[in-house]
Amino acid sequence: MQSVIDVTQHYYQERTVNVHRSSHQLAASVTEQFEQSRKHIQHFIGAKSHKEIVWTKGATESINLIASGLSKSVFKAGDSILISALEHHANIVPWQQIAQELNLKLQVMPVDNHGVLKLKESLQLINSSTVLVALGHVSNALGNINPIEVIIAKAKEFGALTLIDGTQAVSHLAVDVQRLDCDFYVFSGHKMFGPTGIGVLYGKYALLEQLPPYQLGGEMIQKVSFEHTTFQPPPLKFEAGTPNIAGVLGISVASEFIQQHRTTLLGLEHNLYQQLLDTLSIIPQVRLWGDIVNSICVQSFTVQGVSHYDLAVLLDKRNIAVRVGHHCAMPLMEALGIDGTIRVSMAAYNTSADIHAFGAALTECISLLT
Ligand code: PLP
Repeated sequence: MQSVIDVTQHYYQERTVNVHRSSHQLAASVTEQFEQSRKHIQHFIGAKSHKEIVWTKGATESINLIASGLSKSVFKAGDSILISALEHHANIVPWQQIAQELNLKLQVMPVDNHGVLKLKESLQLINSSTVLVALGHVSNALGNINPIEVIIAKAKEFGALTLIDGTQAVSHLAVDVQRLDCDFYVFSGHKMFGPTGIGVLYGKYALLEQLPPYQLGGEMIQKVSFEHTTFQPPPLKFEAGTPNIAGVLGISVASEFIQQHRTTLLGLEHNLYQQLLDTLSIIPQVRLWGDIVNSICVQSFTVQGVSHYDLAVLLDKRNIAVRVGHHCAMPLMEALGIDGTIRVSMAAYNTSADIHAFGAALTECISLLT
């Protein structure tokens, strides 16, 4: 996005200094812009305070930070962590490893044979031994919007913490973390028209205060001697070392753009998605996965009798870039009994002409492969 390119270019060309260190004017000005960015993200997700916004290098690091902190401060043997079958590996592997280390139980909310969360069965898995529910807001593999409100409410009833992986959601859905009342919400810049290698961890302030630091070093300290170190309060407690300053400025500008143009973006995406469904549904060999009603404009499909890898190669030769494979959600593919799908991901920069070209290319490629 041009405004993201502009702000990062301006930083590297005119304002390349570190934040929170030097007293000179330029450093003070960039530090102010850096902290202002935290306030933009606060407003973008409806957090109570900018102090609840921690910069990370992405959703993966945000989840690892929480997992590491909770493993040292909250979890005890016998507790249950509940995730869903739809999760990205980033929201599976950290919990699985910690469950193995600490002798916790990792439970999985199931999906039906389309890949839609089975709500009733999922809610039944929440009980007094559940210490954390970690769930994606929107499936990156299928595009389904999960009923996170109901699940968070049930988790609260049993005093369980809630972490929502919003990476696939924030550019498509308006998020209000106070209304959701989740304890943690994480996302990445690269899925919201922002830079790569920057992400956000939102956490309720009282919880962030309780969590131990994730990494240790410069910037996250208050006072250091050889005998003892005191840490900064959140969020700086979790931001050891020089941060990705250009990334922070970039994700902030991206969030402002989305917030400002949300209605237009969503209208365009809705129309594109309906056109994509129309295009796919007239091809008899195509099987759609996921929930096509409660969905963002991402659609996964397979084609009967055709390798999705071969199909993706042929589409690529026609300049159509689709994601193919397991989408970093191998357990989901296993639950659906497939080894992968083709995923069409659209955003407001796509056009009806793109979908038309895709439909024509898909029909041609299928006929070449059958
Ligand atoms: N969660 C979801 C739903 C994702 O789609 C992704 C990747 O894009 C991640 C987590 C991991 O994000 P990152 O690689 O930026 O850490």
